[in-house]
Amino acid sequence: MHITMLGTGAAFPDPDRAQSGILLTLTNGRHYLFDCGAGITHNMVRANVNPAEVPFVFLTHLHHDHCCDFPLFAITGWMWSRKGAPIVVGPKGTKHFCSHLFEGGAFDTDFRARSFYPARKTNLEAVRPDVRECSPGLAYEDEHVRITCDWVEHIPREVSECFGVRVEAEGKVLAFSGDTAPCESMVKLAQDADYLMHECTFPEAFIEHRKKSGVGIFAHTSPTELGIIAKRANVKNLVATHFGHFESTNAVIKRASTAHVPVELMGPHLMDDVVRDIRKNYSGSLRLAHDLMRIDI
Ligand SMILES: [Zn+2]
Ligand SMILES: [Zn+2]
Repeated sequence: MHITMLGTGAAFPDPDRAQSGILLTLTNGRHYLFDCGAGITHNMVRANVNPAEVPFVFLTHLHHDHCCDFPLFAITGWMWSRKGAPIVVGPKGTKHFCSHLFEGGAFDTDFRARSFYPARKTNLEAVRPDVRECSPGLAYEDEHVRITCDWVEHIPREVSECFGVRVEAEGKVLAFSGDTAPCESMVKLAQDADYLMHECTFPEAFIEHRKKSGVGIFAHTSPTELGIIAKRANVKNLVATHFGHFESTNAVIKRASTAHVPVELMGPHLMDDVVRDIRKNYSGSLRLAHDLMRIDI
């Protein structure tokens, strides 16, 4: 089986990174998508995967950088003759999110225009997703995978649940953090995992800056904290992802970041600091994710 890192960025429209998305492809060709942020449908096509052939989506939380490509993903599947409704597993609010997209929702005009055609009438279920809101514990199981989830610490739970996941498939264990500050539930989900894909949104200095600036979420994991998590969970391979644009050289991203992060510190050189800080505590296999990175397992 293999993993394709479809999107490795965070909440900004970064020209160098799509938003969050990880595709698991089993040896039998069956696909499981985790998160569906902006740009990941395009990257799926770049990775030689037809969105119509991806039957399963897990949304870790409903921040836009984890779900805003879902309408494009679903409508593309509809146009490309998807058979059957996509299964969408996510936190409370996922039903509300999906039920306001297609028929009678934001894309109602597209739905009515496109469903006028006979071919599109035959697979309307492609835009009638089979939504299953999950709770901590077993989130999904079929004959190929077993997915368990637990709450992680990112958005206040009364606003939105955020999940991390543990995936068992083909005798291997993979874990994905979604977005989170360091938390015990993620250490548990990742325990002895073959691969942990974990967010690494901001270096320490940026998290400190955001705590004071009040412009956005600071409940993320720093590289030093990530190294501690990977060591405590005893993971065999760590893949750091969901980079919060701190290494960007793009002029628009840098100007827009002024209120969000210490922009004078931004740049690709910070990736060396990320590795140095993870390595303070973790000495196992480490990769920094980039879009379309493929990991054969
Ligand atoms: Zn995010
Ligand atoms: Zn988030």
